[in-house]
Amino acid sequence: MTKVLYPGSFDPITKGHMNIVKQASDLFDEVIIAVLQNPLKKSSLFTLEERIEIIKELYKNVSNIKIVSDSKAAVDIALLYGCKAIIRGLRSLSDYDYEVQLQQINKEISNNQINTICLFADKEYQFVSSSVVKELFNLNKDFSRYVSPLVQEKMLIKKLR
Ligand code: ADP
Repeated sequence: MTKVLYPGSFDPITKGHMNIVKQASDLFDEVIIAVLQNPLKKSSLFTLEERIEIIKELYKNVSNIKIVSDSKAAVDIALLYGCKAIIRGLRSLSDYDYEVQLQQINKEISNNQINTICLFADKEYQFVSSSVVKELFNLNKDFSRYVSPLVQEKMLIKKLR
């Protein structure tokens, strides 16, 4: 049984992320989504707990997709859950530069136990990012095509509060 870990901050989870999850779940026996607090991203729209709750709700009926959260390094979470590799999504050259560094570090700190597999979102989702969704949301512009109806609803509720 081959398990893989898909770590990210998912603030919020977009259709781009969901497209990567779908591809990974078709390729591997189990996908574990690790919802993390990215220290480089200071402010977040949803709390960690809210992000976990949303993602759990989205995948509640999918048996080979599990959701976890931990303050450990992604490689340690991968080892903890018996994952063979980390999945990352690639959009652009700027993603590539960052991901190349990250996969090398992850390989080193896990003593070559954890490799990284990059997947590409389908073309309609290639340019979707959590930050673009948040920008549109803040400008009161329609962002519905980039997120699931559940995420849209949770974002609109935030605005009303
Ligand atoms: P992080 O804070 O770790 O970058 P993100 O939630 O921003 O977490 O992203 C998690 C992963 O999903 C990253 O590998 C990112 O490049 C990838 N990703 C995000 N949006 C897309 C998309 N539209 N297409 C492909 N990959 C994506």
